[in-house]
Amino acid sequence: MSIPDYSSLVANQRAYFLEGHTRSLAWRKTQLEAVKALFTDHHDELCDALWKDLRRNVNDADLMDVNYCAKEAAYALEHVESWMKPLHEPMPVVFEPGYIRVHRDPLGVALIIGAWNEPLMLLFGPLVAALAAGNTAVLKPSEVAAHCASAVARLVPKYFDPRIVAVVEGVVPETTALLAQQWDMIFFTGSPSVGKIVHQAAANNLTPCVLELGGKNPTIVHSSANLKVAARRIAYGRFANSGHICTAPDHVLVWPQVKDEFVQHMKDTIREFYGDDPKQSPDYGRVINRRNFDRLAALLGSGTAVAGGQTDPDELYIAPTVLVDVAVDSPIMQEEVFGPILPVLEIESIDAVIQWIIDRPSPLGVYIFAEDDDVVNEILAFTRSGDAEVNDCAIHPLFPELPFGGVGNSGMGKYHGRWGFEAFTNARGVLHHSTAIDPGVRYPPYDKHRVERVIVNKLMP
Ligand code: NAD
Repeated sequence: MSIPDYSSLVANQRAYFLEGHTRSLAWRKTQLEAVKALFTDHHDELCDALWKDLRRNVNDADLMDVNYCAKEAAYALEHVESWMKPLHEPMPVVFEPGYIRVHRDPLGVALIIGAWNEPLMLLFGPLVAALAAGNTAVLKPSEVAAHCASAVARLVPKYFDPRIVAVVEGVVPETTALLAQQWDMIFFTGSPSVGKIVHQAAANNLTPCVLELGGKNPTIVHSSANLKVAARRIAYGRFANSGHICTAPDHVLVWPQVKDEFVQHMKDTIREFYGDDPKQSPDYGRVINRRNFDRLAALLGSGTAVAGGQTDPDELYIAPTVLVDVAVDSPIMQEEVFGPILPVLEIESIDAVIQWIIDRPSPLGVYIFAEDDDVVNEILAFTRSGDAEVNDCAIHPLFPELPFGGVGNSGMGKYHGRWGFEAFTNARGVLHHSTAIDPGVRYPPYDKHRVERVIVNKLMP
């Protein structure tokens, strides 16, 4: 099958962008209203697609995708006018009269590539930022969440002129062909290995990119932690959406003296959330496909299951599982789990926690459960991660006030709220210098104004 040529799609968006339509506040608000309307008008249809792809319950479908996207658009609608205002900085006295401003100029035509686990959030979160910032965009949904991808391809043209937002469905050849185009910005969400491919393609045209990647998020349970609350929040973060969440707690590092009590709370919590047989729970999801099912089922052998461990390939079901006796070099500790299995390992000191984190690729999130603030502050001070949570986990992407994104192996660039607006704009410094005064002191011959130059240099910024 031949791959379509995407050059006219990009050229049409660029021509539209260069005509200047996207610059006004009114245009941006119209597009953001359209995003909101798409998700409000088609709420049930989109929840249904998420059920078919991930057996996602409506509550979590709203929280992570459908209502999330409508709310992200509403937040941008409320704030976009203030985000667009140029920043004023004081002019150094020797250059007066004049002014210094920082404009936030749209970048142009953006390519947004999504992952399958939050198939709407990961396309429309960046899209809201792109539109608020005055860009046009092409969306490439993940083919793995097939029902959501086709819903997006069907619905977007009802709300957007293709010169503003277009959808390209496809797998690797289509994405490769898209990446060969000249973009003004590439926003990618997915695995670190594909992130490297995207970054290399962007480098060919010196295109700026944001990479939202994954990794293993360490979750520390200190001896001072509120163990019951920690278990509930960790269980929610690990088992919601069948564990297919980039910010999920990947593994727990717990102080030995509270390990048994913590594990007991995890077992009680799983029963409380999903009943004696989670397979029957309407709130518990399924693994996305057979490939991931097989990968996850193989990881179950990395330890002893003290909760869960059951699987059913016909239903792509893996029970919410807690593993103990996990060796550091076991398979589950070598890759991002990205499924409903939680390895629990013991760790004995803050120094060991810090060493654990800095010895490994930088994670998207570090989560610290502790009532002792000194413990929290020390771990935060000596480690790095995209973001962090204290006494909670996995939920920080839901806060538009927080910059969201990775660092190092977990990605580059931030978005959500104002941070997304900034990611899709160029901070264009504008120096406006009046011609009313033009003292000779700045010009050669320099000997002529030697004394004045000493004074002027002191007044320079
Ligand atoms: P993936 O990297 O396999 O795919 C992501 C996108 O890239 C898809 O649209 C896919 O079609 C495309 N793609 C795949 N192979 C490609 C190639 N060779 N060339 C060009 N494009 C290609 O990731 P995934 O399996 O969809 O998602 C899981 C990963 O994403 C996990 O690592 C997870 O942690 C991460 N993730 C990160 C975030 C975040 O915000 N940081 C959010 C969700 C998921």
